[in-house]
Amino acid sequence: MEKRNIKLSKSSIGREEINAVEDVLKNEYLGMGSYVKKFEDDVKSYLGTDKEVVCVNTGTAALHLAVEALPFDDFEILVPSITYVASYSAIVAGGAIPISCEVDSINLFIDLDDAKNRITSKTKAIMAVHYAGDATKMKEVYDFAVKYSLRVIEDAAHSFGSFQLNGRLVGYEGDIICFSFDGIKNITCGEGGAIVSSDLNITNYVKNARLLGVENDTDMRYSGKRSWDFDVVKSGYRYHMSNIMAAIGIAQLKKIDSIREKKKILASAYINAFVRSKNVQLLDLNYSNSLLHIFVIKVLNRDKLKIFLEENGISCGIHYKPNHLLTAYNSEINSLPQSVEIYNQILSIPFHLDLNDLDQQYIIKKISEFYDEH
Ligand SMILES: *Cc1c(COP(=O)(O)O)cnc(C)c1O
Repeated sequence: MEKRNIKLSKSSIGREEINAVEDVLKNEYLGMGSYVKKFEDDVKSYLGTDKEVVCVNTGTAALHLAVEALPFDDFEILVPSITYVASYSAIVAGGAIPISCEVDSINLFIDLDDAKNRITSKTKAIMAVHYAGDATKMKEVYDFAVKYSLRVIEDAAHSFGSFQLNGRLVGYEGDIICFSFDGIKNITCGEGGAIVSSDLNITNYVKNARLLGVENDTDMRYSGKRSWDFDVVKSGYRYHMSNIMAAIGIAQLKKIDSIREKKKILASAYINAFVRSKNVQLLDLNYSNSLLHIFVIKVLNRDKLKIFLEENGISCGIHYKPNHLLTAYNSEINSLPQSVEIYNQILSIPFHLDLNDLDQQYIIKKISEFYDEH
């Protein structure tokens, strides 16, 4: 039998996205313009929020500008060690110091008991990551933030379309919420990101900063114009979203219900297969509220299993290597044994919209075969 080649993740693009991009190309206005405004309006109405939605070119840029917009100097941000390295890069780029915190071993959410012990007089914010897409633990984070007078940045890169415990979508409420629309996230713009907040100090900052700091250029761009006589008070970046990206996002957002249904079916198949397994543990996530970005299992013999699956044409991932183990983010106060232990057990298995049932059954079969042999 021919060797399979099952991807861990992939973009899922249909006629709708291709047509939308073709429209933009034919209009010959490719940069930031009316499509970006429309995508921002569409996201806002989808979330049902009265907050502002400001789009940028990556989720990392969203996090970076969120940090930079905070009104503090020389400050620290609590962040789980197990997150995409983008969270850390964004904190440093934004002028703050990332303080690595442990994650809870059952769900890989930031461990607030550990975080509490890492608070200093410089701690001004907490960046909570909705790991795998579960956004149901934010009440605890906001209670914690009130108690210790912290701002909250939600790294919601995994959780676009997920519900909180009160049934509201992520982004409906909260302090500063950052989404990613990169190629493999819940919905994509090719690349892209958004900042959602009702703090106008934050959103106005981001609107200028994404366009090189050129004041009030955002409204000009929406109407296909640009400023010629302008001021820059604070230097900025080329972080705006383009019409091409926004057109993809508009088409993707229309499909969010079918994306959710497909992900539910995929997750249920894995849950049914592993819920009573001795060798494979599921994370203790709120699966019914979450639009999952990745499917993570905790296993014994992780590295050997990963090699075995890859030899059988099944690509796997590890989300993520703890950031406090990286040279740039290491420091002696960063001893996090719990996170290192969990890191050695987690494995992400294929989870994308084009994964078919036969391939999924094959993955499940190969995992149990591995444990039969070991
Ligand atoms: C993807 C991701 C980001 C960054 O988003 P990009 O759009 O890829 O820049 C940040 N944090 C987490 C947890 C992510 O998974």
